[in-house]
Amino acid sequence: MEKTCQEHGFFSEILSDDAEYYKRLQRLDQIAENSVEITTNTNKGCPYDCGLCQDHLTPSIFVNIDLTNRCNMSCPVCFASAGATKRLYEPSFEDIKKILERMASIKPNPPFAVQFSGGEPTLRDDLPEIIKAAKSMGISQIQVATNGKRFAKDPDYLKKVIDSGINTYYLQFDGLNPSSYKKFRGYDTFPEKKKTIENLRTLGETSVVLVPTVSKGVNDQELGDIIYFGRDNFDVVRGINFQPLSFSGRASQEEIKKYRITITDLVKLIEAQTNGEIGKEDFYPIPFVVPVSKFVESLRGINMPHFTAHPQCGVATYVFVKSGKLIPITRFVDVEGFFEYLKERNEKISSGGKIRKSIEISKILKNMGSFIDKEKMPKDLNLLDITKGVLNGGGKEYLAKLHHKSLFIGTMHFMDPFNFDLDRVKRCAIHYALPDGSFIPFCSYNSIHRENIEKKLTTPIDV
Ligand code: SF4
Ligand code: SF4
Repeated sequence: MEKTCQEHGFFSEILSDDAEYYKRLQRLDQIAENSVEITTNTNKGCPYDCGLCQDHLTPSIFVNIDLTNRCNMSCPVCFASAGATKRLYEPSFEDIKKILERMASIKPNPPFAVQFSGGEPTLRDDLPEIIKAAKSMGISQIQVATNGKRFAKDPDYLKKVIDSGINTYYLQFDGLNPSSYKKFRGYDTFPEKKKTIENLRTLGETSVVLVPTVSKGVNDQELGDIIYFGRDNFDVVRGINFQPLSFSGRASQEEIKKYRITITDLVKLIEAQTNGEIGKEDFYPIPFVVPVSKFVESLRGINMPHFTAHPQCGVATYVFVKSGKLIPITRFVDVEGFFEYLKERNEKISSGGKIRKSIEISKILKNMGSFIDKEKMPKDLNLLDITKGVLNGGGKEYLAKLHHKSLFIGTMHFMDPFNFDLDRVKRCAIHYALPDGSFIPFCSYNSIHRENIEKKLTTPIDV
């Protein structure tokens, strides 16, 4: 990437060290028309009009709400700068309810998920009430991003959180080595992570996503071990979401060169450290799934949100476990062929009536098998049944079946000021929701707007 700033001159930055892989992600991009709730006018130009403004292309699908900037840790790599600013941000329960109501009122589709974050959201004793409020407003997925410390130490509090209706725990998890934790978190927190997982298991929870921050020379040799840890705790762990370390303007050029890691670096390391069990070609960019939402839209005659994030923002795959081995879905399903086929059927449905719809559904049911290699498919997975269930009007229960038999492995490369790309941020689907009713794309918030907004929303504290 090359860019020129009137004040600071010319910049060049490596986005990927593998041009072919970069082009592959571009080739797999999918676009779709989206309905986006507009809050602000275009005035100064992107990224200064965030709100969302008329130029934004993807609706709020995942929404972050910071519950506090207090934290029970002081990680050197925290982009929320919790505690370091000597200012307190902690919206009241009523303020949070208003944000949730605003979220739930978005037409035609409210955001699919809310993630309560911070700081450390478990420092709030009213977290269970906040989760209940979100649940009562019909928000489908309620997640809490946590370092796990309080859940490890306070099972009674954890039980209250579970009873309130939480769906998923986004658990900070940087590896298995004490050294990684010492570097990122200031001390070895691995025993606490294990205790959190043990407590969740004891209380019957099954939806933990491990969230490793990844940096060169710190834990980039542990990616395979983290995946195998997920496999070995498959009863509780549903996914791993690797996050290359983002610097949010707080690191020198030398530090950035030393520690930064790109999506291509990451998938190559995963391939090497799993001995090819998961290869870089098994990963697909986020918008690759758009043909599915488009198809469901035509099938049901309803407006669907399309996850049209930029293809260079993140990649993901689903893996299954067969006799202790990891098998990515792409090893037994021709996903590219199937999605292409789905697109063709969708075009026919869109241009026809009810009878055309039934004909196309029958065709899919008949031909679906030709995209699956049954020999390689795990024995307890019946993808044909799941597809039939979805096509016949079932939804969540069939997708849940798939979800609980697989491990999601993904990565999202949040941007920094030095590699900030307007084409990417305009397509962002992950937004911070603020008390004034605005929604700000995640990377734009952390790289550009956070400091000013926090000045307005925080109050000074003595620490
Ligand atoms: S990031 Fe989106 S909402 Fe923000 S200014 Fe750019 S187009 Fe508008
Ligand atoms: S959060 Fe950043 S990396 Fe993720 S979709 Fe939005 S712009 Fe892309």
